[in-house]
Order: sequence, then structure tokens, then C-alpha cells
Amino acid sequence: MKLQDKVCIVTGAASGIGKEIAHTYAREGGKVVIADMNLAAAQAVADEIAKAGGTAMAVAMDVTSEEQVNAAVAAVVAAYGGVDVLVSNAGIQIVHPVEDFPFADWKKMLAIHLDGAFLTTKACVPHMKAAGKGGSIIYMGSVHSKEASVLKSAYVTAKHGLIGLCKTVAKEGGPFRIRANVICPGFVRTPLVEKQIPEQAAALGISEDDVVKKVMLKETVDGEFTTVQDVAEVALLFAGFESNALTGQSLVVSHGWFMQ
Ligand code: NAD
Repeated sequence: MKLQDKVCIVTGAASGIGKEIAHTYAREGGKVVIADMNLAAAQAVADEIAKAGGTAMAVAMDVTSEEQVNAAVAAVVAAYGGVDVLVSNAGIQIVHPVEDFPFADWKKMLAIHLDGAFLTTKACVPHMKAAGKGGSIIYMGSVHSKEASVLKSAYVTAKHGLIGLCKTVAKEGGPFRIRANVICPGFVRTPLVEKQIPEQAAALGISEDDVVKKVMLKETVDGEFTTVQDVAEVALLFAGFESNALTGQSLVVSHGWFMQ
């Protein structure tokens, strides 16, 4: 058990990558917090974990709301006594050419990805410091933390920004053994990606099959999607790696789409 009794908050854990991370952490003995703006779906994931013999609670959290983030983290500390691991994972995708990108959509993207990462970090760090046991903060970046794609100006900007936040938190957290790292997945077939396939086909004037083969997986070494399990394994590595030797890093998990 790599995370025995560690309190692990995972945002956006009602679906996709976050949900798989929550299940993986629970199997490793973590007390897992399913934090999502969709409380009903979050509760369903917590129930699945409890049914499988794990420990989990669901909390309502819109990561763009300072009040909701602080209230949810306070509820976690009241229930489980602290916070050991934060996975800032909640995210959405909105695609437009830059000249057509509605400003409101741009602000929404930056709010969810960057404000969300900042607010959850800000709320958890004091509890990690107070407990004196260190902690692990994991940001869900993307290959788009390193690389750009057409139509994704807001996403690419936000995902690059997470690397800056991570490096700063790693430096500030170092004396307290609070580590910060970024996971950078390639395309994973979650609801977030399923929604993009027809949108990109329409925007680029190509078929949905071509979006998958010629856009999403074109640069991989084998034409394969990354899986939620692949990403969860890396999230487990970062969560369970207890020393400052592994901090301030960003690890790409993408079937070779991006090579460092
Ligand atoms: P998903 O749509 O399956 O799940 C996202 C979850 O985030 C949902 O449960 C949703 O309710 C929640 N959410 C959205 N906005 C929120 C908010 N304001 N506050 C709280 N919760 C909110 O998506 P996914 O593919 O699992 O994506 C998870 C993360 O992984 C995102 O940050 C995404 O950018 C990143 N990512 C995904 C891929 C991919 O190909 N799927 C690749 C690289 C990175």
C-alpha cells in the first residue's frame, strides 16, 4: 500500500482521468476526496470506492470559486484530519481559432485551469505545512504544456502556465518537503476528448476518423491513445514518492507524441 491513510484530494474526479486516479489511490490505501462541481457524479464515484472496500468522500467544489475551494478543503480537514496529496485535475476544453475565440471563453479556460490550480494549492499548503509531514501536489498538465496545436490558444496557454506554478510551488515547498510536479498526458479517450472530435472535424473540415488518426495520434510512435490507467500510474508515482528528489518536474505520458 503506497498511500496508506494518506488524505488525497483529486479535483475533477467525477469523470475521466481524475476518476481513475481516485480509484487507484483508494486501492493503495488512500483516503480519497472526490472534489467536483458535479456533486451527484462525485458521490457516485465515492460510493463505488466504498463498495470496493476503500475510503472516499465526495465534496462539491467549483475550482474557480475561492469560497467553495476553501469550504471543501475545510470539510476534508474536519473529516480526515489533514491533506497529504492534492491532484489539481479539473479541466475543460474549448476550441476556436484565436481571432474567433470569445473573450468570455478565454477567461473561463484560464479560470478553471489556472485559478483552480492556484486556489486549491493555496488552500492545501497551510495544512501540509502545519502537519509537518510534507505533501505532494500534482498538476494535470498536458502535452499542451510543452507543445501547441491549432485552435487551442487558451488551453495551451493555461497548460504551459501550470509548469510555472509547479516550479514556484516546488521551490517554496522545498523546506517543508512539499513536492510539486506536472503530468503531461497525450490524448486520452475521456468525455473531454470525445466532445472535441466532432468539433475539430467541423473546424478543420475533415472527417472524425481523420481527426483521430491525422491530428490527435499523428505524432505518436504507435497511433495509440494514452489511457486513464497510464496517467493514474504516474499520478501514483508522484503521490507516493516521498523525497524532494522528485520535485518541480513535468513528465510526458503520450506514446512518444512529445519527446523531451
Ligand atoms: P473529463 O471531462 O472526463 O473530466 C473533467 C472533470 O472535471 C468532470 O468531472 C467535470 O465535472 C470536472 N470539472 C470541470 N470544470 C470544473 C470546475 N470548474 N470545478 C470542478 N470540477 C470541474 O476530462 P478528462 O479528460 O478526465 O480531463 C481531466 C484533466 O486532464 C483536465 O485538466 C484535462 O485538461 C487534462 N488532460 C486531458 C487529456 C485528454 O486527452 N483527455 C489530455 C491531457 C490532459
